[in-house]
Amino acid sequence: MVVVRSQPAAVPAAWLPVGELPVLAAGPGETVQPVPQFPYHVQVVIGDDPVTRLAPRQIRLEVAELTADGVGQAVAAADVSSADMRSSVVVSFAGDRVSVESVVVTYAYLLGFARRRLDVHIADRVCVASRVGQWVHGLACAVRPPVVQPLVTVGNAAEFGEITAVHVDAVADENQAVVDADAATVVAWARRLLWAADRDVAVALVQLCVLAALRARGASERLPALLGADGRVVDLAAVRRSGELSRSASRSDTRFALAPVPSLSARQQRLCAAAAVDIEQVLAALGARSAVVADPASGEQMRVWHCLHPQNHTNGDATPSARVGAIASGGVGFRCLRCLSERLDPLRLVMWSEGVTVDVAADLIHQWNLASAS
Ligand SMILES: [Zn+2]
Repeated sequence: MVVVRSQPAAVPAAWLPVGELPVLAAGPGETVQPVPQFPYHVQVVIGDDPVTRLAPRQIRLEVAELTADGVGQAVAAADVSSADMRSSVVVSFAGDRVSVESVVVTYAYLLGFARRRLDVHIADRVCVASRVGQWVHGLACAVRPPVVQPLVTVGNAAEFGEITAVHVDAVADENQAVVDADAATVVAWARRLLWAADRDVAVALVQLCVLAALRARGASERLPALLGADGRVVDLAAVRRSGELSRSASRSDTRFALAPVPSLSARQQRLCAAAAVDIEQVLAALGARSAVVADPASGEQMRVWHCLHPQNHTNGDATPSARVGAIASGGVGFRCLRCLSERLDPLRLVMWSEGVTVDVAADLIHQWNLASAS
């Protein structure tokens, strides 16, 4: 049995009092601050007891069964979307039902659902996961050691006989964590990690943050297996994976979702309405004359229009030939084959015919009080 314990490095202030948390800064372009100001955007609450409000949006999870499935059902029932998890999130544990196993399993699931480390809030203190990660970073040797342990146990080592054991202590009372530098390397490179969590929930959570930070390889997280008080082993990596999978299945997390429809200004709405009126009524209002002739190709009856600028035509447009037809971008347009290179919608038609600006054309169309195109 090898116990690695040397050169402990202190992780300062793993837990911060709620009052010391920085409040959210205004986003780019936001001039109005949310009042009152909160340190987080979203607060996920597990447990029945009231908690200090840390975010404008509070989501309560009713976890009936403290397994990955149970947490997953609670997440689905609470209608938590992965979009919620993209903002600044804190997970609050409240009430008597909080046990080390329940907190750790729930937290591991939410880590997968959020695909990043989340801050934890218990009893008016918050463990800021990113800070723990920063402090732990660089503790472990970045180069693969000559001997990699197949199975390492972290925690109450004495109980596990022949297994290599290391200590990653979190001293909650002193508001700091202690990580052995040599132990850090062993933990970081061990093939499997069995973790006997401290019985204090706050200490256990810092331990988990430290272990996760030590074992992370780039964006990939490698959570340990949790050795429960009853001897049951919970694979936290698998729990985290179920959280990740449920996120993939979440309908709100589609990258193909339509962008929100921009709200049009009153002027834009007026122009759009003018462009959508019945084009034949516009032509009539402009004084255009038409005739019904037989289509030379199909023999079917069709309406042809005299051009609104007959001076452009050599014979003064004695024989009408302009047509009305569908526009590729939608709606119906008018085109004289001699004068125009494309079909014009009602708004552009009036601009071209009368030689006026878009707003004057819209004014004219609205004055005529025409029906919308069907
Ligand atoms: Zn023409």
